[in-house]
Formats: sequence, C-alpha cells, structure tokens
Amino acid sequence: MDSEDFPTSTAGAERAGYRNQLAIADTFSRSATSGYLYLIGAVAAILASDMHAAYPVAAGALLASFLLLALVRQSMRPPAADGDGGAWVRRYTGVMALSALLWGGMQVWILLDDYFPAPVRTLSLFGTIAYATVFAHLYTTILRIAVAGIAAIFLPPLIVLWTMPGLHMLAAAFGLYGGYLVFAMLRSRRDYLKQLDLHEALREQRDRYARLSRTDALTGLANRRHFAAKLDAAIAQPGTDVALLLLDIDHFKAINDAHGHVAGDAALKAVAERLRIAFGDHDAVLARIGGEEFGVVLKGAVAAGALSQAERIRHALAGDPLICDGRSLPVTVSIGAGLYDPVRHADGDAFYRAVDLALYAAKARGRNRVQPAAGATGQETAAEGA
Ligand code: GH3
Ligand code: MG
Ligand code: MG
Repeated sequence: MDSEDFPTSTAGAERAGYRNQLAIADTFSRSATSGYLYLIGAVAAILASDMHAAYPVAAGALLASFLLLALVRQSMRPPAADGDGGAWVRRYTGVMALSALLWGGMQVWILLDDYFPAPVRTLSLFGTIAYATVFAHLYTTILRIAVAGIAAIFLPPLIVLWTMPGLHMLAAAFGLYGGYLVFAMLRSRRDYLKQLDLHEALREQRDRYARLSRTDALTGLANRRHFAAKLDAAIAQPGTDVALLLLDIDHFKAINDAHGHVAGDAALKAVAERLRIAFGDHDAVLARIGGEEFGVVLKGAVAAGALSQAERIRHALAGDPLICDGRSLPVTVSIGAGLYDPVRHADGDAFYRAVDLALYAAKARGRNRVQPAAGATGQETAAEGA
C-alpha cells in the first residue's frame, strides 16, 4: 500500500534530522555575511593606528585572512536535506572559530605592543566585546559555535588584560562581562530550542491535518478526493499499467437494518481491513469512496492482472464472513474492474466513469460478481447492464 501517504508516526531519527537541518539553515542565514564585520573592524584598527605603515606585512596578512575567511564562510551553503550536516557543522565551526581566534590574536597584539595608542586599544576592545556578544546572542543555533567563538575571541584578551600591570579593574570588568556572556548564551540557546520545538509542533500539526484531509475517518483508507488525485497521478506516469477496481457491498442496507448502524460501521471497517490484507503487499492505493463503496488503484505488473485480483478479493469476501464484535456477517461485493488505456480513456474521470458503469452492470447482473469495464466511455457496458 502507499505507506508514504499514511505514515503512522514521525520517526525519532527523522525528527532529529529535521531539527539539525533547521539549525544549520538558521545558523547560515544569521552568520553568512558577518565575517566581513571582522574585516571592517580590522580596517578601522589599522587606519586608526597607521599600522599599515609600521607593519605593512602583518596588516596586509590580517586583512587578507579576514577577507578570505569571510568569503569562505559566505560560500559555505548548507547541504541539501539528505546531505552530510555533521560535516558542514564541523567545517563551519572551524571557519567561525578561526575568524574569532584571529581577532582575539590581533586584540592581544594590540594590547601587548606599545606601538598601539590607547584609543586604538579602546576601539579594538569595543570590537572584541561586540563580536563576542553576537556569538552569545545570535550563534546559539549551534551551541558549539557559540562556545568556540566566545572562547576564541574573549579569553585571550581577558588573560592578557589580567596579566597587565594597572589594568586589574578593567580585567575584572571584562571578566564580569564574560560571565554575562555565558549566561546570555545559555539563555539564548534555551530560547532557540523552544523555537525549534514550536516549529516542530507546527510542522507535525500541519502534517497531521494534511493526513486527515486525505483520509477517510471511519476506515483510515484514502478518501475520495485523495483517491481521485492518486488515480490521476498514476495514469500520468508513462509506461505504467494502471488498473482501477470499484467495489460496492451488496445489500448493505440490509446489514444496517438487521444489526444497526454501529454494526454497519464495524462491517465497513472490516471490509477495509480485508482490502488492506489483500492488497497491502502491492503497489496499491486503497480508498473508501463513499458510503459502502471502495476503490483500489493498482499499478505496475499487478495491474495487468486486475480482473483476477478483483476475482480474488470478491471470492475472499464471499467465502469468509466478516467478524464484527463477535458476530459473523456474511457479505458479498460487486466489482467493476478496468485497465487504463490512454486511447480509450480521455482522462482519469473518463476511466473512472467506465469502471463505475461496469460496477452498475455487475449489480444489474445479480451482484457478487466482477464486471470488466469496456470502451472509452463505457457505453457498451452500460448497454449490457441496462
Ligand atoms: P446494493 O447491493 O444495490 O448496493 O444495495 P445496498 O443496500 O448496498 O445499497 P444502497 O445504496 O441502497 O444502500 C447503501 C446503504 O449504505 C445505505 C446507507 O444507510 C448505508 N451507509 C452509507 N454510509 C454508511 C456508513 O457510513 N455507515 C453505515 N453503517 N451505513 C452506511
Ligand atoms: Mg451497496
Ligand atoms: Mg453503494
């Protein structure tokens, strides 16, 4: 049966994969272009300190490295849904951490080298605090990126500040802010996980409603609308045999009349179950089309033997009464059966009408029988059946 249409549950692995995929997409959309911020910060620090004159090679190397890392980061598009997300996260974390480490290193240099004047130190420390804050607030979509980034960007200057004479107060304030960053990072991570939960709940709800809109509530088979869509889709596949069986329970009204509507419902469910047993192993779409009428679309090799398939299910039902609530209910069905022929059937509707006329003919001929559909419009069958 078409199991993809009626999944019983969302598998845990699939769910985890979906969450990872979302986290990867969010990470990229939040951070893909922010590598250039380091470049801007470095340009500002270099221009403010005339570093390009004093250390032209180092200044050039810093700018080139920040530019290269920014370009690499921007080019690292997330993998497709079935791609290797883990490898992407490792590589992306590496690029982010390397950028942060480079900035952290530059910051340490600016602090330690007397060449740099106080305003440049202040300027670069401002950048350090800003970049670390971005890691704590925005990049917690993947926690290891936030942790690696904050550690790489914040710890080196913190340690250096602490060892510098006369800067203990500044180092303490810096450390205090680092504590806040850890707190903010954990908080932001919690919020992001909640957002993922919400996203997932919405997705599951959407899937559930989509499934319900395709399903017959009583039997769990496809409903008429979905069945018609599946039939259209099947005949649109070139080179695939498609057969249609329409089954109507004979004298079903008598079951309702004799045993009540509830027993009638149970009988409908039992017939649906029999169809599942009969066609569960096949490439088949099973539907309750309405009232006590069922439809089966068969595809591929099994479709060519549609008449014998129809005969098999008719025989199985007639020979083995339904058991409903401990009660034995003998039922028979009449079946119209046809093989789709693009020359004879203009479209899915025409094919359906031809098979439906065959079903009428089966009823007219005395029920509990299979009637093959005829002609493009089914006129012959209708005439025979009338
Ligand atoms: P035929 O052999 O000509 O098909 O006779 P029939 O009695 O099966 O057909 P008819 O169309 O006269 O009656 C169909 C009955 O199916 C009438 C209706 O009450 C019953 N029915 C339709 N839907 C449901 C349902 O969901 N539950 C129950 N219990 N009965 C239903
Ligand atoms: Mg009937
Ligand atoms: Mg009917």
